[in-house]
Amino acid sequence: MQNDIQEVLISEEELQNKIKELGEILSKEYADRNPLVICVLKGAFIFMADLVKSITVPVEMDFMAVSSYGASTKSSGVVKIIKDLDASVENRDVLIVEDIIDSGLTLTHLIDLLQRRGAKSTTVVTLFDKPSGRKVDLEADYTGFVLPDAFVVGYGLDYAEKYRNLPFIGILKPEIYTS
Ligand code: 5GP
Ligand code: MG
Ligand code: MG
Repeated sequence: MQNDIQEVLISEEELQNKIKELGEILSKEYADRNPLVICVLKGAFIFMADLVKSITVPVEMDFMAVSSYGASTKSSGVVKIIKDLDASVENRDVLIVEDIIDSGLTLTHLIDLLQRRGAKSTTVVTLFDKPSGRKVDLEADYTGFVLPDAFVVGYGLDYAEKYRNLPFIGILKPEIYTS
C-alpha cells in the first residue's frame, strides 16, 4: 500500500497536532451547548474519532453517509444519502465534521438539509480544504489544512475504497489511476 504513494503531503504527527488545536477551540465554542456532532461517512471517520477525543466538553455524536463521487476522482454534483442520522437535529447546535471540501456541493446540500430539518445552528469543521475546486460559495467555519488541487488519500480518504487506513495524507502515483 505504501508503495502506491508518490508523496506524503501531511505527516501523522502534523495531523495529530492540528486536530488537538481544533479540539481546544471547539471545546471553548461548545462549552455548555451539548452539540450534536455529525460525522460525514465514510471519509471523516478517523478525523471524527481523533477530534472528539480532543474535545473536553459533553457532546453527542451521530453518523451520516453520503456519496457524491462513486469511484471517480471528481464530484458528480449528485449527493445521495446512503445512511441517515438516528437523532433529530431539531433545535440542536450541529457540528458537521467533514474530511475535505472540494467543489463544496456535498456540504452545501447537507447544510441545506439539516437547516430544513430545524437545526438551531450548523457549524462546519473540515480537516482539509481545496479552495481551488470550489463550484459554490461555501467556507468552513474551522479548517485544518488548505491543500493544493490534487487528489489525496489516507487518514480516512479513499481511492476506490482503498488507502483509508494510511495514518498520513498522500498523493498516489499516477499509474494507480490508469492501471
Ligand atoms: P465536494 O462535494 O466538496 O466536491 O467533495 C466532497 C467529498 O468528496 C469529500 O467529503 C470527500 O469525501 C470527496 N473528496 C473530495 N476531494 C477529495 C480528494 O482529494 N481525495 C479523496 N479521497 N476524496 C475527496
Ligand atoms: Mg466527506
Ligand atoms: Mg471517496
